[in-house]
Amino acid sequence: MATNGYEGELKMIEELTTNAEQIQDEVLGEILSRNAGTEYLRGFLHGQTEKQLFKKNVPIVTYEDLKPYIDRIANGETSDILLAEPITGFFLSSGTSGGQPKLMPVTAEVGNKWDLFRRLYESPVIKHFDDINQAGKRLELMFARPEIETPSGLKAASVSTSIYSGSNFRTSLPKLYTSPVETIFCPDPNQGLYCQLLFGLIQRDEVVKVGSVFASTVLRGIKFLENHWQELCYDIKTGRLSDWITDSGCRNAASLVMKPNPEQADLIENICNCKSWEGIIRKLWPKARYICCICTGIMRQYTIELEFYCRGLPLVSDLYACSEAICGINLEPLRKPCDVSYTFLPNMAYFEFLPVKNERDGSIEMKSNNEDTELVDLVNVKAGQCYELIVTTCAGLYRYKVGDVLMVSGFYNNAPQFQFVERKNVILSVDQEKTSETDLFKAVTEAKALLDPLRLILTEYTSYVDTSSAPGHYVLFWEIKGKEGKHCKELDPKIMVECCSRREESLHYTYKIYRKRNIIAALEIRVVKQGSFEALMDYYVSKGTSLSQYKKPSCIKSEEALKKLDSRVIGKYFSPKSPL
Ligand code: AMP
Repeated sequence: MATNGYEGELKMIEELTTNAEQIQDEVLGEILSRNAGTEYLRGFLHGQTEKQLFKKNVPIVTYEDLKPYIDRIANGETSDILLAEPITGFFLSSGTSGGQPKLMPVTAEVGNKWDLFRRLYESPVIKHFDDINQAGKRLELMFARPEIETPSGLKAASVSTSIYSGSNFRTSLPKLYTSPVETIFCPDPNQGLYCQLLFGLIQRDEVVKVGSVFASTVLRGIKFLENHWQELCYDIKTGRLSDWITDSGCRNAASLVMKPNPEQADLIENICNCKSWEGIIRKLWPKARYICCICTGIMRQYTIELEFYCRGLPLVSDLYACSEAICGINLEPLRKPCDVSYTFLPNMAYFEFLPVKNERDGSIEMKSNNEDTELVDLVNVKAGQCYELIVTTCAGLYRYKVGDVLMVSGFYNNAPQFQFVERKNVILSVDQEKTSETDLFKAVTEAKALLDPLRLILTEYTSYVDTSSAPGHYVLFWEIKGKEGKHCKELDPKIMVECCSRREESLHYTYKIYRKRNIIAALEIRVVKQGSFEALMDYYVSKGTSLSQYKKPSCIKSEEALKKLDSRVIGKYFSPKSPL
């Protein structure tokens, strides 16, 4: 089988997964021997480096516990209070799923690990889509955010921005991607997106892969195209870039390649002008072999809509990583999003797992005394069991809770494979009950079935607990659209009220008991205008989130974000009766 120069990486994956236990011990040994003398670890290890002592003495922490150290470094103290290797800057986590952005120390070694990771996670995909790098280019939607400078002069940027700034990426850009670097670094994400779509359309016969980091960004691109295709066609026809694109970098990049091409413009116009946009990606980019974007976790809600637009093209979720640590890769790129699992790479960090138990029919709840629960090593996790991920990294995180819940789906050689279950901190609660991201997803999926016969798609949702009146109640914000056209028909109030009921029916037992006793009031669905969730995304991007790393919150906690959605509500519906 041809492997296109990726034999080395595939071989490395074999070695890493076969020797997972030994490599994990080496990784921890190296981290401890380097960092045992730091102010932070000295307090727990007293200069010792034994694994047993680490397990006994070093506490499990969250970002809040490490924040005082990170703030001291950001304010000018030397970084060896937390880690021995000098730091080169910080990664800025997106902060959209769980609150405020966090600063994660970055070292030269972290940069090297990300370079290696990119080669490793791409290799199984390249193996499956034989010769893909040679066959053509990638239309990948990419957005860098301006770096932030800390008081000490260190730079903080999102992981994706740091990757786009790296020399390896920049060298590969013109050959492998359709987007010029100026469009990625354009300070206005909408101008950048317009130009990236334009370049992708101009080179449509060369595009073999369409994607972005997350599924939501690909959909954002398609929706933007729905609103701008006439203008894009006009630009292609005339060879002139629209006047509202004022960014000089984008204009310069366009001036180098744009020339009038009425034939191409007519072709694109005919494709876009059809009644249904089903399969539009295939039609616009006929050589595309797959769509590459993360479709697991919070992103699974977008798969139905993406499948509609790409009709038959596989959706490939290739990696699982976060600003805190690199975790795993997908060795079977053709698996359906709901079956994707990530094989952990034991050389990237020291991984431990906090068991979480399944208390209510399928939903996850933490053991109450989790600090006393023994953490499980990477190679000792059990198939079928759910765990919260804890990482110890070369960049100053020691037994750090990432906040993700994962389920072991199997092993590849000796390395476990995990399915992403949910973010742990997304919880709706009016009283003692807890409703997780998974509960929400399940309940939405059931209610969706009611919309399907009406040819309506629930394109976006999020949630909120309204406690402004007693008792409090769950509010769901829904954006709905018609399958054929851009806008949905008048919504039938009867169906919407039925949706509210179904949602309550499919929530967990505790919720239903509380509803019956009137501790929780009737569930409400607020239908918002089309484009409301794009406005929400714009809001977070305007606050500094990178569009490449944006993850819509499953539960709205910010007052301002709530106002954005509330101002776009076009209908409110309540559950008529209590479930049970
Ligand atoms: P950030 O640090 O802002 O890039 O966000 C990282 C978070 O994104 C992770 O902790 C996960 O919650 C989520 N994430 C990253 N990769 C995946 C994936 N493959 N599937 C599901 N969620 C993911």
